[in-house]
Amino acid sequence: MTIPKTMRALQLQAIDRLAEVRLPVPAPKPDEVLVRTVATTICTSDLNDISRNPFGIALPRVLGHEGAGVVAALGEGVSQFQVGDRVAAHPVIPCRICENCQRRLGHLCANLGHLGLDRDGTFAEFFCIRADRVRRVPPGIEFATAALLEPVAVCLEAVQRGRLQPGETVLVVGDGPFGLLIARLASRCEPRKIILVGRHDFRLRQVSAAIALHEKRVPDVPRAIRKASDGRGVDVAILAAGSPAALEVGLASLRARGRLVVFSAVQGIPSVDWFRLHTQELELLGACNDEDLIDPALDRLADAELGLSSLVTHRLPFAQWPRAFELARHGKDEALKVALLFGEKA
Ligand SMILES: [Zn+2]
Ligand SMILES: [Zn+2]
Repeated sequence: MTIPKTMRALQLQAIDRLAEVRLPVPAPKPDEVLVRTVATTICTSDLNDISRNPFGIALPRVLGHEGAGVVAALGEGVSQFQVGDRVAAHPVIPCRICENCQRRLGHLCANLGHLGLDRDGTFAEFFCIRADRVRRVPPGIEFATAALLEPVAVCLEAVQRGRLQPGETVLVVGDGPFGLLIARLASRCEPRKIILVGRHDFRLRQVSAAIALHEKRVPDVPRAIRKASDGRGVDVAILAAGSPAALEVGLASLRARGRLVVFSAVQGIPSVDWFRLHTQELELLGACNDEDLIDPALDRLADAELGLSSLVTHRLPFAQWPRAFELARHGKDEALKVALLFGEKA
């Protein structure tokens, strides 16, 4: 494979200024692989980085952290891959040294590296990634679906943190791509019921196993949830929306000993009904990144019955990136995950 000297990339240069630029193709470090990107999907966090830069990314930076493609070159210490392998990447790079890494909590690493944050990401024709964060993709999974490796892994973490058991009822608050992924993945735990709360008909239709509640049309959402859970309340509520109101709905819906998983970044410091938490023995659990769920995520991507590829609603050539970002930001009645493709038979 001949590797060109330069590549097209999308660089965040200032807030609200994402620009197509030409950059040198990076060279892999000894423990890295160079991936020729075939598909990369847009994440809500990319949109937040563009509009607010909440993580304080040092600019300019090539954004993007959900990518799949073909191995183009190997660092000198990498032997587990070959040039030409079809691969997907997980963007989180634990340092393997800090206290949390020593506790096998690499996803909570104190010196976490992350594609598109502290190093250039996947919105480019090539990107480098440490080899242990890369997996070969089975032939049945197309690249745009393989790019969902990390979103699926982090959503699996949310379900696992809630310890959802067969026969339990789970509530997912939020009908964005994450909420839909979580609801679909939860269906694999044989729950008694899945209740999904959101505000877009198109999105609420995407989880056939779920009881969908449109929060604008249901006058009293907690009451509707209680009714949908046979008057009992839910065993697990997973927050895939960051508003204080979503937090309140999640907490209010729990039955005794219920678990609330906070997957989204909740805005502000909303108050919590600590008395209810005390008297009902509720549990609050955070979920951030994933604790080594790359391989289970790959299994779910290959699971035809889950049909996760249908969550990629748009596959656009890279040249149409302005439209892709427009769709991801505003196309709430037609778009879920939007993929950019680099001129390759995917
Ligand atoms: Zn993401
Ligand atoms: Zn670490």
